[in-house]
Amino acid sequence: TVGYLNGTFVDPERALIPIDERGHQFGDGVYEVLRVYSGRPFLPEWHFERLRRSLRAIGIENPHTDDEWMQLMNEGIRRSGEPESLVYLQVTRGIAPRGHLFPAAKPSVSMTIRAFQPAEPNPSASLLCLPDERWANVWIKTLNLLPNVIAKEIAHRAGANEALLVRSGWVTEGSSSNAWFVRDGVLWTAPANRYILGGVTRRFVLHLAQTLGLEVREQAIAVDDLGTVDEVFMTGTTTEIEPIACVKVDAAMRQALHELPADAEEVIVRAVERPVTV
Ligand code: PLP
Repeated sequence: TVGYLNGTFVDPERALIPIDERGHQFGDGVYEVLRVYSGRPFLPEWHFERLRRSLRAIGIENPHTDDEWMQLMNEGIRRSGEPESLVYLQVTRGIAPRGHLFPAAKPSVSMTIRAFQPAEPNPSASLLCLPDERWANVWIKTLNLLPNVIAKEIAHRAGANEALLVRSGWVTEGSSSNAWFVRDGVLWTAPANRYILGGVTRRFVLHLAQTLGLEVREQAIAVDDLGTVDEVFMTGTTTEIEPIACVKVDAAMRQALHELPADAEEVIVRAVERPVTV
């Protein structure tokens, strides 16, 4: 495994991040994950394009040109000696005494390159529908992944392989992958608006579909229509293209998938009236 931190290749087990690093304290940063196949990063230009968009969205200056990113990544891949690997790269707003306002700090850049073994094909891979509790700008690939982490964990504990997130009755995506449906020979995937992370793999599959002349609708599927689809698959850099055998929608969860529970307002009022005491 190779690490990189602000200009130096390091042992990722030993490199230290200052306590006042804003990625550490605020999740104030963005990231990319790239797959390396046979020593070559897959679709790096599309990843750099998304990185530029994410950085611009949260007001961090891109510390590198695409050529510099490419050189840095290739040097890391070379040092790792791992032709099948995963590159994680992260840019944060930098290091400054804790405070919400943007500091005049230099962005921090870190990277790891690790050997990657794709999971064995799973003919019975399943999804569990869960409420999409993320914020309204998930198109930005930020470090704030707590709702994603929790959704994945709940799905796994329930025996499913991935969460299928649902916002106001519409299927958005997985916790770390994009969702696709086939119905009557037409390919459906949620539109790349602010409510999904526009995956590089999603973009590649759209490109493949176009090349193959397949009919595609970039439209969300309603959770209540899941029973009408013929096929489901998920896509992502680490997921690649994964066929799904089964989607579980918990009956008790149905209401939550559409809206706040009926007593939500009351719960909120009660919470205000009776603040948490220790
Ligand atoms: N959606 C979410 C929430 C993700 O975290 C990811 C990747 O990690 C994806 C979709 C797939 O994106 P990509 O194909 O660029 O890996």
